[in-house]
Amino acid sequence: MSKNNFIKNPVNYTRNVGNYIFGSGSISNLDSILNKRKKEVDGEIIIFIDKYFKNENKFLKKNTLGKKDILFYVDTEKEPDTVIVNKFSNLILENQNLNPSTVVGIGGGSTMDISKAVSNLLTNPGKAEDYQGWDLLKNPSIYKIGIPTIFGTGSESTRTCVMTNSITGLKLGMNSNYSIFDQIILDPDLTMSVPRNQYFWTGVDTYIHCIESLNGNYRNVISDSYSLQALKLCKDIFHSDDMMDHVNRSKMAVASYLGGCAIASSFLGLIHPLSAGLSVVLGLHHGVANCIVMRAMKEFYNEEYLEFWEMVNRQSVHIPSGVCNLLTEDQYESLYNSTIIHEKPLTNALGSSFKEILTKKKVKEIFKKM
Ligand code: NAD
Ligand code: ZN
Repeated sequence: MSKNNFIKNPVNYTRNVGNYIFGSGSISNLDSILNKRKKEVDGEIIIFIDKYFKNENKFLKKNTLGKKDILFYVDTEKEPDTVIVNKFSNLILENQNLNPSTVVGIGGGSTMDISKAVSNLLTNPGKAEDYQGWDLLKNPSIYKIGIPTIFGTGSESTRTCVMTNSITGLKLGMNSNYSIFDQIILDPDLTMSVPRNQYFWTGVDTYIHCIESLNGNYRNVISDSYSLQALKLCKDIFHSDDMMDHVNRSKMAVASYLGGCAIASSFLGLIHPLSAGLSVVLGLHHGVANCIVMRAMKEFYNEEYLEFWEMVNRQSVHIPSGVCNLLTEDQYESLYNSTIIHEKPLTNALGSSFKEILTKKKVKEIFKKM
């Protein structure tokens, strides 16, 4: 893997999140942000919130939402697919009384991605699957606000919203500057309730974004700068005594944000395509699937492999094993197909002849180690 051609790769037409608020308790700004938008722009507010928060009213004052504003609870048992994104968009578009001005996503990567995808579809005709790819959206989305309640995916700062195509099985986002939030709120207090394993699985996604970007062929000065700082924060957090203490939760908020900026200006590597295979074929969620893939990454990312397992031990978290034991040949074939389809990150990791390295036999061998 080349580490030395980072000056050659230009970053074209990317942008950053419009505005951000950061800090303990900063969620209290949501009411005033929404009230200000209501004064400035006509139209309804559509909120997507992780179902986990159904019985907690810590986000909004009672009278902030008007009669026509809508609150959708998102079930994260399954990660987003094109069916759910189309379903939410159609519910809004088919209601003639609605003319939404603002979309809000409150939750993890799943909920934030659904809010981004729906806000894109409210101004771009067609279905979610029409826009899976790079720069396919024609029109700016509805103004959107992102509020992570768990940190690591970087969805709050990336230019994508990931979903699985329910027909082809392709796990791919709407990569576009229109997928970037206009406003985000990064409040570390929101992550206090996250279970430890989940906190690690999602948090370490940032570590993995950065090591993939830093070991790739498409390195450049901007993504390197974001990645190096995000990686440093991840190392501080996961080598410390308690990854969830107050300081570390604040660091995690910033690491996730910077890691998202890094991948918005670069590409991922080998871990994410393999992880996408596990998600598509075995239904494993993104964070835990990445961690499972790390079981097989000694050969490709030796230094980071060793550090990853040191961090797992340090935080005493659980990473499932043996998930690919007893699979059928058809399942291995599907795993191969849903991995090898990710040309951009695989080229970034292994060069344009990546298929010569990742033969069917080799990919099966890799999955068997998990
Ligand atoms: P998630 O959104 O699926 O949430 C994981 C779990 O944590 C859920 O059970 C949820 O209910 C729970 N949870 C969230 N906040 C909580 C809180 N404060 N307290 C208690 N429980 C809480 O998981 P994720 O790892 O954040 O997101 C994964 C998704 O993000 C995948 O679909 C993945 O493909 C996508 N992703 C997107 C990007 C991007 O750039 N858009 C990048 C990486 C991953
Ligand atoms: Zn990821």
